[in-house]
Amino acid sequence: MSLPASSSSQNPPSSSAADSGPQDRSADAADLAVDRAGAERHQPGLLGNLAADPRTLVLAVRRDAAPLIDGRLALVSFADLASSAAGSQKTAGPEAAASAGPQQPAEHAASAPSLQLAEPSASAELARPAESTASAESARPAESTASAESAHPAEPTASAPAPSARPAAPDAAAPHDIPGITHWAFLGRTPDHRAVLLAVVADGAGDELVPDADWAPLRAAGGDLPAGEAELLTTAVALSGWLRDAAFCPACGALTELRQAGWSRHCPVCGREHFPRTDPAVIVLLTAAEGDRVLLGANAAWGGDRYSCFAGFAEAGESLEDAVAREVNEESGVRLREIVYRGSQAWPYPRSLMLGFRAVVVDEVEALADGEEIVEVRWFTREEIGSALRGESAVHLPGAASIARRLIEDWYGETA
Ligand SMILES: [Zn+2]
Repeated sequence: MSLPASSSSQNPPSSSAADSGPQDRSADAADLAVDRAGAERHQPGLLGNLAADPRTLVLAVRRDAAPLIDGRLALVSFADLASSAAGSQKTAGPEAAASAGPQQPAEHAASAPSLQLAEPSASAELARPAESTASAESARPAESTASAESAHPAEPTASAPAPSARPAAPDAAAPHDIPGITHWAFLGRTPDHRAVLLAVVADGAGDELVPDADWAPLRAAGGDLPAGEAELLTTAVALSGWLRDAAFCPACGALTELRQAGWSRHCPVCGREHFPRTDPAVIVLLTAAEGDRVLLGANAAWGGDRYSCFAGFAEAGESLEDAVAREVNEESGVRLREIVYRGSQAWPYPRSLMLGFRAVVVDEVEALADGEEIVEVRWFTREEIGSALRGESAVHLPGAASIARRLIEDWYGETA
């Protein structure tokens, strides 16, 4: 499987963003540390109230990409976002306007900050049945019916038909009705108590929403962002994927309603609540019994001279330690002992949580690549790892801020 390339710093958040807004921040401005402030999500009308607050910041995310200025996340005020969207609607041709979502009168969009969001609201989903039906959940109906909710077989809802789409109330969608934005969610508060909203941008839209910004994906930009911004973008990408792809109830197939400021979905047919899902994946650095060497693998998908730790998803019913032992054995042939947890990293491609381990190889002669996912396994001495970490070797190691890199660097530092 692919390996992380983004930051998952365990450093404590540092100081706040400047009051003047991230667009004014210089390249060495303070990191943006956002507290999730999860208790606020339950407040009725939170998104609409925050959209009307001029101090509120908005992080726009399109798939896994976000706008950057000078290598930093470019957040904007809600009013500026609405204004940019409205300006784009005025100047864009019919084709561009169509790709940016439902056409709205520019005046309407520009006045959006003063409107209130009626919660719960499923208006964004109701407006986009075609997109929703392409979601990962709806593509796996058989799996969905075998979900944990099937533990309640007495409830006669599993075969209930989905309700037909009904038109949303005229202003219930605000602040949803900014062209090109499909969903909104509350990401948290900065240390100076400014709210940060997530705006999920429709595919093909959004370039005009943040002037002068370059859009870059998390996997490319995450390693270079300050820790707090990398964490914020990771959360935003993970949550936006769920908002985009999980519109339908996995238990009964009905269209769900968003609640808790974008962090929960309520099924109006069977009554169940659904939350953003995370898939556990394990990644492990293997050492020789003496601890003086590590065993890395070259993935078929990478090509060339790139080596990394072994990794894979935990299967249903499996402990993390069992997943480590199984994945490593499948990919490299070795058996393990002393499997020890080392730390974790969220990786929203699409919704993984990477759990990092270190383990000792029982018998070195067993090491043999599976020839499918892993094309080569190779023992590296401390000197070889050192030169690769310094970029003085033809061997390439995982990206700067990935958990795989951290596992390798930790080992290298300990044995120095
Ligand atoms: Zn349901």
